[in-house]
Amino acid sequence: MERCSICKGRFKDNICSRCGADLTTLLAIEQQVKNQLKQALYQLQVGNLEAAMLAVERSLQLKREPLALALYNFINSIPLSKLQPEILKFEVMES
Ligand SMILES: [Zn+2]
Repeated sequence: MERCSICKGRFKDNICSRCGADLTTLLAIEQQVKNQLKQALYQLQVGNLEAAMLAVERSLQLKREPLALALYNFINSIPLSKLQPEILKFEVMES
């Protein structure tokens, strides 16, 4: 989140400088979403589909992030019996 989600103003130290909203909770949720997505990508990498799905579902409960939705659909499209961890290797995003 680069801007205040209420008025789109800039914020400093979690407080919007335009409308004065305290964005601490929202920012904490955004961080949790990021962490869950990272966890999902990691679990995919090691071939643990169930844990990956769980993390994606947790992140979707917090926020309907396009990346999370894409991951959700991707994981659902993998036939469990055909799962080969080595074909799922890709770089975990840095953030
Ligand atoms: Zn604001």
